[in-house]
Amino acid sequence: MNVDAKRLIEQDKAHHVHPQSNLRQHAEHGPTMITHGKGVYIYDTEGNEIIDGFSGLGCVSLGYHNERLSNAAKRQMDILPFAPTFYNRSHPRVAELGERLINLAPGGMNKVMFQCSGSEANDTAIKLLWYTNTARGEPERRKIFGRVRGYHGNTVATVSLSGQPHMHAKFGLPLPEFKHTELPNYYRFHIDGESEEEFSARMAAEFEKLILAEGPETVAAFFAEPAISGGGALMPPEGYWKEMQAVLRKYDIKLVSDEVVCGFGRTGNMWGSETWGMEPDMVSCAKALSAAFFPISALMFKDEMYADMMKNSDEMGTFGHGYTYAGHPVGAAVGLEALDIYEEIDLVGHVRKVSARFLEKCHAMADHPLVAEVRGVGLFCGFELMQDAKARVPFDPALKVGEMVQNFAHDRGLYLRAIGDRMSFMPPLIINEEEIDLATERFKDALDDAWEVVR
Ligand code: PLP
Repeated sequence: MNVDAKRLIEQDKAHHVHPQSNLRQHAEHGPTMITHGKGVYIYDTEGNEIIDGFSGLGCVSLGYHNERLSNAAKRQMDILPFAPTFYNRSHPRVAELGERLINLAPGGMNKVMFQCSGSEANDTAIKLLWYTNTARGEPERRKIFGRVRGYHGNTVATVSLSGQPHMHAKFGLPLPEFKHTELPNYYRFHIDGESEEEFSARMAAEFEKLILAEGPETVAAFFAEPAISGGGALMPPEGYWKEMQAVLRKYDIKLVSDEVVCGFGRTGNMWGSETWGMEPDMVSCAKALSAAFFPISALMFKDEMYADMMKNSDEMGTFGHGYTYAGHPVGAAVGLEALDIYEEIDLVGHVRKVSARFLEKCHAMADHPLVAEVRGVGLFCGFELMQDAKARVPFDPALKVGEMVQNFAHDRGLYLRAIGDRMSFMPPLIINEEEIDLATERFKDALDDAWEVVR
């Protein structure tokens, strides 16, 4: 490592407090310092070339270098670097992006609000649910359901909605309005002999029980990622969405599809909700909306909800919500360019094509002694690591087997993410078949390395 790299790491260690990081580990060892990227590769100050099998944080859909996106940002910065969308003001790029998104959106969406992050999009969704339920004369409909291990962000409300115990403990969260239903991990939680469909029916029945216990008239919405990402690339079991949506319809509870990770092609369709036949009332998206080149997110919803917002506005005047950088001109310009690129290169078609190889290679690891289950769709795959796959005996958590595989993979030039003992593998959507071969080979080698330690 050269002197500059050392200095950077010391600077970072001294002052920069990192989100979602082990603070003690950081204080002792400092960060991995990524200096640049190209295609699916990232490079660090140690001189390592690493395939990013986690797409940054599931966001770098077009890889790490794209002149069209950087030029779009520069062009917009030269023309109009900022304009508020408050006070009935707008600018060309945000108007265009709104229409463009609505044309792409799942059925029924006709309105869009912009923010800068997935958390803000979901937080806005929660506020709009509360705001419009008040307009509809149902102010008591405030409770919001998420799922155990679901992830929807880090504002006070969205982290309450997320089902991540380590993000609640010590913060005095979740807030009381937020409830959690079961994690639909069929492999781990099915009863012996139970089919996927039966398991899904049981998940829905348990959800219904929770709704009845709360009082259905107090439940506003259920937020869900079509496939769970933050909880470890967990695909829904057969029949899950059909059963869950039947319960929601029965009690007039809205479904919010959190497409922050699944949106824009990850699952081989434009939206995860398309892949699994979901019919959401609201859709949040972020990350690949700008291919991660600029922070921008969007929340889409139906005219019916907008009509309720209008009622409140007629009574109150101003709609009392918004962020300074909502619909930022540079984010909007980059978003428009990203959507152009997706269309021109047929990104969804590309994902469908290469995912056949990706999933085949992932499934080939299913008989590795560390791996209990492999399940994926598109370029999104989860691996359950277990001590005994058949008897479903997990590893002793103290062994940190997932983290071990993550570290060995890193040493071999692949960045993957372990969530406990579940590995999440979601490379940039532009990955090609050669890179898939290389990445999966490295993954397999990392599993072998870890097996040598725990066998
Ligand atoms: N929703 C999902 C499904 C996510 O995976 C994330 C972040 O990873 C978020 C929401 C929050 O997005 P952000 O980190 O941009 O606030």
